[in-house]
Amino acid sequence: MPEALSTTLLNGELIATHEARISPFDRGFLFADAVYEVVPCSNGQPLRMDAHLARLAASLDALGLSNPYSTARWRELLCGLIEANGGGNLGVYLQVTRGTSIGRDFLPPPALEPTVFGFAWRLVPPTPEQLTRGLAGVTLEDIRWLRCDIKSTALLAAVMLRRQAAERGGGEAILVRDEHLAEGSSSAVFVVKNGLIATPPASCKRLPSITRQVVGDVLTALDLPLEEREIATNELTGMNEIWIASATREACAITRLDGRPVGDGCPGPVWHRVYREFQILKQRECGA
Ligand code: PLP
Repeated sequence: MPEALSTTLLNGELIATHEARISPFDRGFLFADAVYEVVPCSNGQPLRMDAHLARLAASLDALGLSNPYSTARWRELLCGLIEANGGGNLGVYLQVTRGTSIGRDFLPPPALEPTVFGFAWRLVPPTPEQLTRGLAGVTLEDIRWLRCDIKSTALLAAVMLRRQAAERGGGEAILVRDEHLAEGSSSAVFVVKNGLIATPPASCKRLPSITRQVVGDVLTALDLPLEEREIATNELTGMNEIWIASATREACAITRLDGRPVGDGCPGPVWHRVYREFQILKQRECGA
């Protein structure tokens, strides 16, 4: 992972990254009692900022945490963080924890002051060689909880799964639950069979991915229909194309699954069109 850039957001202040400190009694540290967002930023402009802030608000709501800032204030802080780190193409991380209370009680005391933390890193676009090669995926049983719709910092299962995938040479874990595709360990998944594109519907088993919405808009612009349906695990082996989508990886072709080629083992024709149109959409929404 690329390094955090020099300026960090902590509780409404922009400070030097190496000076950022929180208490070990912060409930984010003790309980992962916290939610987060990752907002991609192209040409110094956040992509789909309002959708990311709306999802952050929904995650806070699910934890019974009040939103520390208005949307306008979030926008201001996010743009301030981007600018202070030199703009360009960035990933921006935002986290809100329930706050600090000295002790450790599962039941949180009421009305703690939330901790708000944010940092940015430079997003490096994939090389032409990486684009041509695509990524290897490894299917793994989803061992996460049943509120995967909340963007919680409790990511231990995802970390374990991602490590398992990496040990088998995979760049992403493709998670399956009850014989059906859930999502990637940190991505949404799309499949293509005989020209028909599908992705699983919204559910507590998966995060409502913002990039999935962007890819949906890209497909609409290309006049390609998208079906939302549950996808059985045994369908995955026969797919012509599989892509993952996330804020930092955009749409990325999975060219091998469990050591076997997906389609002809190269990024497919539909992915190529989606990738090109995605770049056009970014230019349109974030400027050249
Ligand atoms: N699903 C999971 C579990 C994720 O962690 C992520 C992103 O980190 C996604 C899907 C993709 O979401 P987004 O497109 O908003 O980055």
